[in-house]
Amino acid sequence: MKDDNCIFCKIANGEIPSATLYEDEDFRVILDISPAAKGHALILPKEHYADLYELEDETASKVLVLAKKMITRMTEILNCDGYNLVQNNGEAAGQTVHHFHVHLIPRFNGDKVGVAWKPGTLKDEDREEILSKLK
Ligand code: 5GP
Ligand code: ZN
Repeated sequence: MKDDNCIFCKIANGEIPSATLYEDEDFRVILDISPAAKGHALILPKEHYADLYELEDETASKVLVLAKKMITRMTEILNCDGYNLVQNNGEAAGQTVHHFHVHLIPRFNGDKVGVAWKPGTLKDEDREEILSKLK
């Protein structure tokens, strides 16, 4: 399914031109227009899924394989030192475009790209609450 109001549907399906690094029948991989680092790319499925909650399992199972292929090739091209994969779901998590996508962010030793958080401490009550609710 496509969403007529979704910019990533239009980009993924070639209605809006993009800097395409890779394309197959399920996905298009493009350069991000506001990159966190040189080479920052986005994996877009061609079908519309708002986020990971909606993504169908078959597509989900292909995404990480494609991410591996892309970062392997792009690491050779960019000569970067590492990669972050970032995938936001919901506005609270920083999602701004509600068409599932995975960010591939090249990292260079000593860069100041901000995808880190301040580590907290796992509280006993939180651990017990979460583990008991999962049972
Ligand atoms: P989110 O915050 O939803 O995880 O990430 C959305 C990303 O899409 C942002 O990094 C933003 O720069 C990128 N983006 C938004 N609109 C466009 C566009 O029209 N073209 C491209 N190439 N990237 C876009
Ligand atoms: Zn879409």
